[in-house]
Amino acid sequence: MELHGIGVGRGIAAGPLKRMPEPLAEPTDVARTTDADTEIAAAREALTAVGAWLRDRGIAAGGEAKDVLDAQALMAGDPALAKDIVARINAGKTAERAVFDAFASFQKLLEGMGGYMGERAADLADVAQRVIARLRGVAAPGVPESDQPFILVAQDLAPADTALLDFTKVLGLITRDGGPTSHTAILARSKSIPAIVGVVGADTLTEDTVLVVNAGTNTVIVDASDADVADALLRREAWLAASNAPITDGALKDGHLVPLLANLGSATEAADAIALGAEGVGLFRTEFLFLDAQSAPTVAHQEEQYTALLEAFPGKKVVVRALDAGADKPLSFLNDAHEENPALGLRGLRALRVSEHILRDQLTALVNAQNKTTADLWVMAPMVADAEESDYFVDLARELGINVAGVMAEVPSLALMAEQVMVKSDFVSIGTNDLTQYTMAADRMLGSVASYQDPWHPAVLRLIKQLGDAGALLDTPVGVCGEAAADANLAIVLVGLGATTLSMTPAALADVRAALLTVTLAEAQALAAKALTGRTAAEARVLGTASF
Ligand code: PEP
Ligand code: MG
Repeated sequence: MELHGIGVGRGIAAGPLKRMPEPLAEPTDVARTTDADTEIAAAREALTAVGAWLRDRGIAAGGEAKDVLDAQALMAGDPALAKDIVARINAGKTAERAVFDAFASFQKLLEGMGGYMGERAADLADVAQRVIARLRGVAAPGVPESDQPFILVAQDLAPADTALLDFTKVLGLITRDGGPTSHTAILARSKSIPAIVGVVGADTLTEDTVLVVNAGTNTVIVDASDADVADALLRREAWLAASNAPITDGALKDGHLVPLLANLGSATEAADAIALGAEGVGLFRTEFLFLDAQSAPTVAHQEEQYTALLEAFPGKKVVVRALDAGADKPLSFLNDAHEENPALGLRGLRALRVSEHILRDQLTALVNAQNKTTADLWVMAPMVADAEESDYFVDLARELGINVAGVMAEVPSLALMAEQVMVKSDFVSIGTNDLTQYTMAADRMLGSVASYQDPWHPAVLRLIKQLGDAGALLDTPVGVCGEAAADANLAIVLVGLGATTLSMTPAALADVRAALLTVTLAEAQALAAKALTGRTAAEARVLGTASF
């Protein structure tokens, strides 16, 4: 039997299944017999103890896990939650039930926000479980113990669970819930563990069943035969060798170069990206300079930040994006008007054009940094609709002294007008996150329509092909800097559609580098052509994935 889900990376693992213990039973909603003060004191003690435990676990785990566990400790200590729990106890609930209900209502709030925030709801649920276990005097659901390496199957993994896992024993991860931005996916990527999330039927699997997890093909073989396991182990060897291969420049099997670049949000992330083999920066998000500010940062302050970034990449390409405010990145001094649909509102280049002095200041700071460093600075505008807007930006950037000016392709209209845009624009960089949101008319922040946010959709691939074709015709570089470039299988298809560079979160570089080396340009083009014939994202994913 085979099960299917969304593979994270291209890893392969084979081994026996161990299941994460099921969550605690829901506390019964009986009338309280003890007095309120006793229950309130018990609830407060449990919240404090769980908060302290999470913080200790964070210190022990370190790294990214510490940030997540600290955030969970803050949830346990949240005064609004405590207030809600006290109110519920005073209204007649037991401490256990009050904790359960209060956390559930906060969780609903987060889920309503969708996307990244929605997926943090699972973190809150995990804190609730630990507090209720403490109140009950039982152990919180823990991680399975085993002397032998195993494949961990869970409903979803909470950060506190993952901080306790012995990663020398975990061969692979399978979850029933969770999407590409869930903790399980983030963890699997950062630890290079083969994982498949959103596996329908994962909850029917029984303990010790032998599984083969192939993240690259999105499949789980259940009750794998000896031959299946032997085959998987061979493939695993090849995958491990490829992942640990020396860092080389991004290229296909036939030597066709595809520079692999990093998406960065601040200059401090540069060193890690370089260590992982980033050949430059494909997207530098400048919002961090603006988002917490009451007014636009000065030219001098911006110049300092851009110079620090460019100095980290001497002689290398660095693509900086002009301020992308609006919708998921609101900024009151640029646009404080109430908008019914901010994703369709005055955002990105549209907002900068209205407040041109902010754009001029940013470009001036970039020119100054460009002129005192040796990095090859490219500057691009976000949320550009057509050639008129693109020409406006490119003209202004050149007038102020920027050497290379281009635009992002995030709005379908820009992809449809690609040839006109490329008459003047020096390059185009495809932002697949927004391009998917606008092509599918599905808010990328909204959990209820998250299934539409899939860049494998053939409608999105067709627009990318149009951009790739125009780039080839007009000799204009076409990069990809959305999340899609970090999906190793999709990365191959993107190159087949005409992408000339790929930019991604640095953690994905090794996997994408290894994947590109498995195909020639002709093979990548054939896979892209097949993916384009799919009727749905799921079909395109199957058609466009190389069997290896
Ligand atoms: C995108 O939209 O794909 C993109 C890279 O930009 P952001 O995710 O910052 O909107
Ligand atoms: Mg975008």
